[in-house]
Amino acid sequence: MSIMKNKKGLIMGVANERSIAWGIARVLAEHGAELAFSYQNEGFNKRLIPLMNSIGSQRCYECDVSKDVNDINSIENMFNKLSETWNSIDFIVHALAYSDKDELKGKYFNCTRTNFLNSLDISAFSFTRTAKSALPLMASNGGSLLTLSYLGAERTTPNYNVMGVAKSALEASIKYLAMDLGKNNIRVNALSAGPVKTLAGAAISGARHVFRYSENVAPLKFNPQLTEVGNSALYLLSDLSTGVTGNVHHVDGGLHSVAIPKQENLE
Ligand code: NAD
Repeated sequence: MSIMKNKKGLIMGVANERSIAWGIARVLAEHGAELAFSYQNEGFNKRLIPLMNSIGSQRCYECDVSKDVNDINSIENMFNKLSETWNSIDFIVHALAYSDKDELKGKYFNCTRTNFLNSLDISAFSFTRTAKSALPLMASNGGSLLTLSYLGAERTTPNYNVMGVAKSALEASIKYLAMDLGKNNIRVNALSAGPVKTLAGAAISGARHVFRYSENVAPLKFNPQLTEVGNSALYLLSDLSTGVTGNVHHVDGGLHSVAIPKQENLE
């Protein structure tokens, strides 16, 4: 299958083989995409390199989205480097987020100013900065930008706290970016994934309860596998979705559609 043949893209956020970014990368590679990766720091690089080599990719760039490099924004700096070898790019997957795990429990109102600003900077602003930095590489052919969100952006979920606020900002950003970039034929969408067992997912207090509740209550009776998230990403990053932008697409077994669960699903 070669739906992504001749398409080049950047994957941001692979920490290990359980990362959502990796689930997406694997599916895209299976469908013929050429991929480059970014990683937060040297510690993550060691895990990333064998994974990317396993799908024939050699290109990766360090990018801690919260830092500047020699007074240049790190995201801008990464795209400057990428443009030395690629003169265009077709898609970007932004699958990264951060909040101090001590604040992913208890009451939201105890959130500190420092963590509030860091969480929104890393988890939301970084996507907006990515869109701006990618524009020169997408300007001629258009492209597709994809980020990852969660139901906690729309309604409260236990202990998600400031991350829910950051994801709300991210989801609002999608709409404004879609409007900014539509005339350049650049589409901007998000996948709102159900709970997946990853490093970031485990940082949220009570993650096991959320995981079990979600699979009991979701109409499809399961939480998504990495491949299911990857397949939805494939649709949004490929030419199958050329009419779709400004959209948050749920890959959560239908959980988002349930207001009041059936009694038997709670037992
Ligand atoms: P993960 O821990 O595998 O990936 C998180 C990534 O964020 C890591 O690669 C980490 O290096 C990166 N990151 C954190 N701070 C960074 C920084 N300052 N600069 C650059 N990179 C940074 O976890 P994941 O669950 O695959 O998370 C990927 C995305 O999916 C996140 O946006 C997360 O909120 C979202 N999401 C996760 C779930 C879930 O249940 N796991 C559900 C819905 C959405």
